[in-house]
Amino acid sequence: MKTPSTSGKRTRQTRTSPLPAVESAVTPAGTPSAEAVRVAGVACVKRLPAYLQMLRVLQGEGHEYVSGTVLATTHSLEPVVVRKDLALTGAVGTPRRGFRVAELIVAIERFVGWDNQTKAVLVGVGNLGTALLGYQGFENLGLRVAGAFDWNPAKVGRWIQGRKVQPMNQLAAFVRRGGIRLGALTVPATAAQETADLMIRAGIRGIWNFSPARLQVPEGVVTQKEDLAEGLAVLSHKLQHLPPAGGGPREHGSHALRQSAP
Ligand code: ATP
Repeated sequence: MKTPSTSGKRTRQTRTSPLPAVESAVTPAGTPSAEAVRVAGVACVKRLPAYLQMLRVLQGEGHEYVSGTVLATTHSLEPVVVRKDLALTGAVGTPRRGFRVAELIVAIERFVGWDNQTKAVLVGVGNLGTALLGYQGFENLGLRVAGAFDWNPAKVGRWIQGRKVQPMNQLAAFVRRGGIRLGALTVPATAAQETADLMIRAGIRGIWNFSPARLQVPEGVVTQKEDLAEGLAVLSHKLQHLPPAGGGPREHGSHALRQSAP
């Protein structure tokens, strides 16, 4: 079996203490405990999917071990950061060999709660909602969008990306029957709060908010906002402040553009 390594560097055992072990880091539901996330910081949890993606590639290529240093190098991170992230998942490395790839995948999946498939509903089957329904990658993240809902009578009853669009008055019963706690919200900003309230009344406890609206939610409900406008604003701002022609990044950017031009 292959073990990827960085140029000539020897890798060390990567367990750091006194971070909490996996038992205390993971709730019975398989999600990170609040304490674990507090210790790790949200930044750590956000880095884990990138490690996971690379680990799956390495596993596909037949690698049995990976060192924390390799993960750090390929993700442009300090090795100590990677070591702390991985230690939190409860993964334990072996001196000089690093982590067993398969075990590390399981540890990370367990930590983020992707080892058990999570069912979700999606509300708002417009353009964005339709695209999300068609995204196969969610399965890899342990997420299955089990039901799609919309208030538009012209959409209700139609099959979109393999799901029959259901009317909003069916949401509560569907959520209750399936024991579903997660909902993706893809309605326009103007309808976001009232739709979120409806989802919460239906039993949804985690709202993945793709609308530009900031939601007010009661205690016991969590939200994560994915605002494409915010991301685009940051990118556009950076684009405007690229160094003048002849500078490294500009060259790189214009080369990429030239390459992708038809
Ligand atoms: P389309 O024009 O096909 O509806 P869109 O993405 O431009 O697509 P949006 O206005 O962003 O449409 O609305 C997204 C989806 O949210 C639509 O399918 C719309 O019917 C639905 N929607 C809007 N308000 C609500 C609501 N209060 N409850 C449920 N669904 C809603």
